[in-house]
Amino acid sequence: MDAKKNEKLFLILSLGLTESIKKGVVSIDEAEQLLFSPKIIQLFTKLGFSKELIDLVYSGMELEDLESLLPNQLTNSLSQMSADAVGILRKMPRLELALPCWYEEILSQKKLDFNIENNELLIDKQNTMTKISVNQNTLDQLFLKISTWEDWIEIEKRIFKLNCWSERNISEINNILKSEPIKIDGAYWFPVPNQYDVSETIEFLYEKYQQMAFKKIEPEAYEENMKNISEYGKRCVFCEKYAKEYFGDMCPACGSELLWLPLNED
Ligand SMILES: [Zn+2]
Repeated sequence: MDAKKNEKLFLILSLGLTESIKKGVVSIDEAEQLLFSPKIIQLFTKLGFSKELIDLVYSGMELEDLESLLPNQLTNSLSQMSADAVGILRKMPRLELALPCWYEEILSQKKLDFNIENNELLIDKQNTMTKISVNQNTLDQLFLKISTWEDWIEIEKRIFKLNCWSERNISEINNILKSEPIKIDGAYWFPVPNQYDVSETIEFLYEKYQQMAFKKIEPEAYEENMKNISEYGKRCVFCEKYAKEYFGDMCPACGSELLWLPLNED
């Protein structure tokens, strides 16, 4: 995520906090929990946030002492902090409408709201993942209407929030690539890491609907591809494995639906 966008969000938070403290609707203690803390300073420094914003957090950390030692200066200090935040905000670029989904972290629920046979798949395996929830009814309804790649891109943006996805970190990918092929149900299964930092369920749905979109938007090309079926393997997004020649539709290891994997694109 772009540092300037995040800085802007925190400046708005800081301004909201100082004004709220002044009006007596937020306590200094609450403001410390939200923003004015050494932990935040550490994090902002690590993220390369501007010195001006970090100084603002330092000022916020001094509010509690000020309140107990020099209470008559508290309002002045809060006003100064508000003015500083406004001053920095004035220099900030406009927020783009393609917002990062910063609210996802706070608002999204742990469980995704659609049904898939295996419930375990609904729970993200790590908290660090980008949490995306997809309403499958909405997805299906929209999918019925698509006829061009532009339509599909709308689904990518609106349903899958693709602009919020980030690539998985390279060491995770390399770890998966290191695993040995295993023989299951007569075929060798090779590692194929998922590419994005989202749950397998979301990656699975995305890939599945993208393949369905191809069939729908370019039926002739799809037919043509299916004539050369040997150029495609079968991939299990949940096991992160693929087989070059496997004729089943379900993963023999976990029972999930398999997707096509073009073999020449490695
Ligand atoms: Zn599997």
